[in-house]
Amino acid sequence: MYLLRIFLWLSCFCVSASELTSIENIETFATNYHLDLNINTQTSSLSGSATITAKNQGKSPVSVIPLRLYRLLSVTGVTSSTGKPLNYTQRVVSNRDDTLFQANYIQLLLPDAILPEQEVVFTVNYSGHIKGYTETGMGYIKDDISPEFSIIRMDAYAYPLITVPDDKVNRASRFWQKRYNYTADIEVDNGLVVANGGTLIGVTENQGRRVYSYKNQKPSWRMDFMVAPYTVTKGHGFKLFTLPGNKHATHYIEKAKQTISLYENWFGQRQSTGEFSFIEIPKGFGAQADVSAIIQDSEGFVEVTRLYHELSHLWDPRSNESYSPRWNEGKATFLEYLTDSRLNKMASLSSHMTDVLKRAQKQFAKQPKYLTTAFEEYGKVGLNAYSVGALFFALLHHELGEEKFNHLLRSFYVAHVKSGASTSDFIFALRDLNDPDIDWVLSRWVNSLAFIEDISNATSFEHFITLSQRKDKI
Ligand SMILES: [Zn+2]
Repeated sequence: MYLLRIFLWLSCFCVSASELTSIENIETFATNYHLDLNINTQTSSLSGSATITAKNQGKSPVSVIPLRLYRLLSVTGVTSSTGKPLNYTQRVVSNRDDTLFQANYIQLLLPDAILPEQEVVFTVNYSGHIKGYTETGMGYIKDDISPEFSIIRMDAYAYPLITVPDDKVNRASRFWQKRYNYTADIEVDNGLVVANGGTLIGVTENQGRRVYSYKNQKPSWRMDFMVAPYTVTKGHGFKLFTLPGNKHATHYIEKAKQTISLYENWFGQRQSTGEFSFIEIPKGFGAQADVSAIIQDSEGFVEVTRLYHELSHLWDPRSNESYSPRWNEGKATFLEYLTDSRLNKMASLSSHMTDVLKRAQKQFAKQPKYLTTAFEEYGKVGLNAYSVGALFFALLHHELGEEKFNHLLRSFYVAHVKSGASTSDFIFALRDLNDPDIDWVLSRWVNSLAFIEDISNATSFEHFITLSQRKDKI
């Protein structure tokens, strides 16, 4: 037994990414997924298949498609659209730029190269376990399969993603900007409910188990399926999935309704229809906002400011840049507190923003990179823009006044909702206002480090505003 274990261990020994065919450029992207998965909570495992339609969006023929799956998920076969077996290799490898991060790296070898603009359909059959990625430092990826809670999402590579074990190459491909459609049949034990932000097509019985069939509402860049003994509450265009013991569902739905109507009033109608889902996940699994769902832990159902934050993201045009200063996180953080001050009598914007100011000052003290980095470089160097960005948006709100501020965001959303937007698009929109007060703000925040002084020297939010304002204001 001992020898057998050693043999098994050796046969699974990981190779480094560099020993495989090196792919320096990803040009093939998924345009459609069909997942057919069986979730077995007794054995803490899943099995099934992903049928992927992939399109060559590059300029040269592609004969190898790189895919990654979670490190404990093995491919049992890959077939063509006609059911013919296809050749592939699979190996657990560490990322070239992050040796703690391991994934099963699959290279699908196509019999005929796909030409530019052509599509190929193939099915990856796979099975195994998911045990999270906390060892990589991504503490929120605690993903597992258990009777209490299971999660199938891209963060843990629970389905094949066209990527390589080199994040520099993945980032350059901007794969997250490539949207796809999906359908999914997820089979679970009776008594468990599958939650997803898409449209529920139906639930069928299969030998004492249930198959939940979902279809995306809008082209998406991620698919999340949560399995738990959920309670489902419906109404007012919302659908709420709560875990046992959640007593805040009614209050939460009420707050969501109020927030949506406040934002529609401020920023106009959202350019999407369909049901919006709120899905509870256990604590520490990380919040997500998608085109049709908000996924957050039980704390989020109590701390309604997080609801305000996530709902405000629904009015973000998608980002067209690989590195952005994540100004939309700053905007969402500011709107979170502005909304709280409007909907809750006890909350004050000024005291919220003074807390944000203190948090930014603490970040400056802890991470000296903040003291030498321009705001538009935050994404590139890995700094977060929640607090500093919130101060920027609070300053814009103060200088423009609420009506002009809302008009700016409303027209920016309408102008970019289809095309997406970059930081420089937003800066152009600000310059277009031809407002000397805003030009002054931009002179301290864009291509300048002057805003760092304003934040560092301020003792309160009001003081920060005074330090940041144009001095010769009439
Ligand atoms: Zn956010």
